[in-house]
This record gives sequence, C-alpha cells and structure tokens, in this order.
Amino acid sequence: MGLMAAYFLQKSGHTCAIYERGNVSLEHATSYVAGGMLAPFCELDGTEKLIGDLGLDALELWRDIAAELGPSLDYQENGSLVLAHSSDKNELDRFAHKVKIAGGGDGLRKVTGEEIDALEPALSGRFRQGFFVEREGQVDPRSLMPILQQHLIKQGVTFHFNTETSIVDSSHLSVNGETQAFRWIIDCRGLGARCDKPTLRGVKGEIIIIETPEVSFNRPVRLLHPRYPIYIIPRTDNLFLIGATSIENEDNNGVTVRSGLELLSAAYSLHPAFGEALIVELNSNLRPAYPDNLPHIEVNDNLLSANGLYRHGYLLAPKIALELSQFMATGNPSNRYAQIFEVAA
Ligand SMILES: Cc1cc2nc3c(=O)[nH]c(=O)nc-3n(C[C@H](O)[C@H](O)[C@H](O)COP(=O)(O)OP(=O)(O)OC[C@H]3O[C@@H](n4cnc5c(N)ncnc54)[C@H](O)[C@@H]3O)c2cc1C
Repeated sequence: MGLMAAYFLQKSGHTCAIYERGNVSLEHATSYVAGGMLAPFCELDGTEKLIGDLGLDALELWRDIAAELGPSLDYQENGSLVLAHSSDKNELDRFAHKVKIAGGGDGLRKVTGEEIDALEPALSGRFRQGFFVEREGQVDPRSLMPILQQHLIKQGVTFHFNTETSIVDSSHLSVNGETQAFRWIIDCRGLGARCDKPTLRGVKGEIIIIETPEVSFNRPVRLLHPRYPIYIIPRTDNLFLIGATSIENEDNNGVTVRSGLELLSAAYSLHPAFGEALIVELNSNLRPAYPDNLPHIEVNDNLLSANGLYRHGYLLAPKIALELSQFMATGNPSNRYAQIFEVAA
C-alpha cells in the first residue's frame, strides 16, 4: 500500500519519502507472501460488492501501471479458471450464486470440458465444467516490489529502510526516535499500525511454492472444495504458488501440517504431475483486517491512514492510493467511494 501510495502521490506532484522498519527485501511484509491475484469477481464469493467495484476500477489502473513498469514485471490479464471435481460440482453453483448476489454475475462464463481443455491444455480431459472469468489477472509480488521500488527511486522518491516510525501527531513522526515534521503523513503500516488502531486484527494466510517443469498453466486456476478452496498461480521459472488458507489466528508461526496437507493434496488432485514437484517455500503471514473486512481510509487533518486491505491488498492498492491522492487534492472523498473514508471532524 505504501509503495502504491508513493506511486500516485509522486505522480500528482508531491515529494515522497518512505520510512520502512524492515529491510529492502520486504520479506517480513504481508505483501511479500501474497498470491497477487487481481480477482474482482472471484473474490465476491467471500466479500461484498464494494470490493468488486473498487477492484474493477483498480484493474484499469493496473493495466497502466504494468505498462509503465515494463515487460520485466510478471503481470498478466489472462483471466481465471474456476473448477471443481465432479463430486464437488454443487460448489460451482454455490460459487456462482454468491458472486451473482454480490453483483458480479456478468463476469463469469460457464465453460464446458472442451473449453477448459482449450484454455488449459495441461488439464485436458480432467474437468467437465467450470467458469472462465475473463476480466481478472495476477501480478507476482516478488517481481512487483523491487521493480516498483526502482521505478519510484527514478521518480525521486527516497527510501529509508530499517527505520522505525511512530505517529506523534497529524504532522509529526518519530523517526528512529527523533521527531520530524511533514506536510502530509500517509500511514500504511498494515498490522504495524495496531498500536494506534486497536480494532485491526491479523488473519493468517499460508502458501506453498512448488516447482515443476511438467505442468504449465496460462492463468490462475481456482479449485472449489467444500472445506478448503485453493488457487494455483503459475509463476515464471516453472514455479507455482498454491494458496491460501484463511485462519482467524494471529500467530504468524509458519505452515501447519494440516494446512500443508490440504494445499498440497488439492494441487495433486488438480494434476498428478504436481506430485513430483519440488517444494520450494512454505510461508505465512497475517492479513491486516478491520472487523468489517473492508478497507478504510481514515483522515485526521494531514494524517491519512490506508489500512484493512485484508485479502485484497494487491487488487485494491492502486484504487485506494488514487482515492487518497484525490482526497489530498480536493479535501473531499469521492462520491463513489465515500463509504471507505472516515474523516475526523
Ligand atoms: C497468504 C496470503 C495471500 C494473499 N493473496 C492475495 C491475493 O492473491 N490478492 C490480493 O489482492 N491480496 C492478497 N493478500 C492480501 C495482501 O497481501 C494484503 O492485503 C496486503 O499485503 C496488505 O498490504 P499492506 O501494505 O497494508 O501491509 P504490509 O504488506 O504488511 O506492509 C506494511 C509495511 O509497513 C511496515 N511497518 C509496519 N510498522 C512500521 C513502523 N512502525 N515503522 C516503519 N514501517 C513499519 C512493515 O514492515 C511493512 O513492510 C494475501 C495475503 C496473504 C497473507
């Protein structure tokens, strides 16, 4: 969120500095572990229309961002494929119903076995029905974060890593213990903001990255299942990210055996060649969420906080950043998304 805020604010004429308590790799951040799916329709299975609306607007912005960051960014808009094994085919109806009542029904296209085979030849003959969701994409966080950092540096943004900050008031930060004044402060600390925002909570998510040259996908594939729906995202270099659990647990202590079994067995059930893949990484982190699981921009004079991105930080960050930047220019929330703003009197 912080990188994306700097991207839009620097563009609109501000001079930005980023203070980050971790190191340049950002491996400790929630954003490092994410799948990076840009899925405004599929996410409606578990959230409300607001996320779909923000997400569709954000997808338009992602297209321009990806073009500006260049072809080395691992970004694609090849849609998503949603499948279920024949024993779980009721899940497809349940999924479509949930997406439809949240306003995203027009994004789903029912596909036959032949169409699935054409979209994903690696799955030929394995699934007889599903949905193709054309207007979705994905960005690899491990590709995006360094490329975006380099881009921002070229645009004049300064980075201060290993620098702990805390908020003194709406125009002062304590930076490594020393108070400094700023024209605007944008708080994008994720769960690190919990000291000032007691209703924020962490929702644990676990992922596994595997490597195999035996399977290739053109797009993220979601496998619906009554107990543990998963997605598999193809990455470069024969890598696949399998994700993600969503557990109301704030111990970011790694991947449990149960989650590992569920993620890997679902992948194996999608394609048996995943059985021979190498496990490259098991990882977890906590999604920052407010009680309503929706993003909020809180405004207190010149201090703006963008937080609660929960399961949708990649999808939403550009749109939230643009909303921030427009508020700073006009002093008013946009009419369309006024509900995400909380402006202190
Ligand atoms: C397993 C998993 C899968 C996910 N998959 C997806 C997905 O497919 N698509 C999607 O859209 N979203 C996904 N998400 C959600 C997404 O990752 C989050 O919504 C997003 O990363 C939140 O970003 P953030 O910038 O708010 O927080 P963070 O990424 O945690 O960034 C906050 C930064 O603030 C720094 N910080 C904190 N406190 C301080 C301080 N006091 N001083 C200085 N710096 C500080 C931290 O070090 C950190 O770098 C997933 C999340 C998980 C866990």
